[in-house]
Amino acid sequence: LFKGTISDNGYLDHLKISDSADEVLREAKDVIREHVREGFKVAEQYVQKAVLFERAAVLAGMADEQLTPRFRIQGSFAYHTVNSPAQNPPQQIDLDDGIYLPVSFISMKGRAQPSVAASGFFTLVEKILTPLCQKYEWDIDRSKSSCIRILINDEVHIDLPLYSIPDKEFKRITEAAYAADSALRSSVEFADFAYRSIPHDQIMLARRNGTWEPSDPRKIEDWFNGAVASHGKVLRRVCRYLKGWRDYQWPECSLSSITLMACAVIVFDELSGDLPDDRDDIALLKVCERLPSLLSGSIPNPVIPGMMLDEKWKPEERRDFQNRAASLYSELTQAITQTYEKSTAISRLQKVFGKRIPNNQTLLLISSEEAEVKAYPAISVPAPAVQRSKSG
Ligand SMILES: [Mg+2]
Repeated sequence: LFKGTISDNGYLDHLKISDSADEVLREAKDVIREHVREGFKVAEQYVQKAVLFERAAVLAGMADEQLTPRFRIQGSFAYHTVNSPAQNPPQQIDLDDGIYLPVSFISMKGRAQPSVAASGFFTLVEKILTPLCQKYEWDIDRSKSSCIRILINDEVHIDLPLYSIPDKEFKRITEAAYAADSALRSSVEFADFAYRSIPHDQIMLARRNGTWEPSDPRKIEDWFNGAVASHGKVLRRVCRYLKGWRDYQWPECSLSSITLMACAVIVFDELSGDLPDDRDDIALLKVCERLPSLLSGSIPNPVIPGMMLDEKWKPEERRDFQNRAASLYSELTQAITQTYEKSTAISRLQKVFGKRIPNNQTLLLISSEEAEVKAYPAISVPAPAVQRSKSG
């Protein structure tokens, strides 16, 4: 019922984004990339040097460099957890396309900072994109503090986070590759080998308020892809089911996808042995069993030590998350292990996940599920969330 079969669609098939939405997003992404790249060649037509560069860089004569951005998809499209929205509006499909600008870094207040001003970077990219957005009737959302959001249509948007990387590093890393393959030099894509080789903490994210902050999107990707590599693709599917549940339960909420992914990884890490690849229902049940208690405590950010994913939740929000997670577990248990009537099992699942759970009884097999569920006990139940995660 979750994964579906070759002949019958499961929940997973109904979470997929449509081919047309996928095509619209990818075409828009390519047009934006091309336009931003061309725009940077004539950056001075859009903003003055004094706006684009830090004052210290202008004074040091470092404001004449030709800037060439590179692009790289990140977020759910990069780690393959994209779902189509359960409630549109307000939910939309979100493609994150990072813009990476190799620039020289200068020492300011004792720290190496990009010579480009974070606010100037925002201004330049927004000015470059304004005529393009008018042409295609896209809207620019300037309310996000750490990206430029382009609203393509009612269903999809593209987020453009702006990064800078030290150009010395970038040149050092790319020199040999460019010598071997000159086509790479003009590549729009931030090539994988170069992206992988930028030293830690040298990727800086521009914030709309004019500050830079170290922010390394590779960390989340590596963490999640590593977890999928060790636990199997069932982990990725379980995360998509949880996101689908969240989107059906709340039109908008602060229970982030990363939080749901972190909870799923915690549970998979705790289980002894790997879950079977063909029993998504059992894997989901094991995660949901622990979800209410995980949501009641602190959930560590898997890639930023000391940061908690739940620190901004209000007490009533947390209670709501816990309550609905508890009813998710109860409906799921009853549907999977305590119901012998197929139609009842389906309606229980539809109650928590919505009608994207297919009403198709041929996808349900009745067996002694309880024994199978018990075959995958947790090593220690329930381990405090803070103590794990050392192994990764
Ligand atoms: Mg986004």
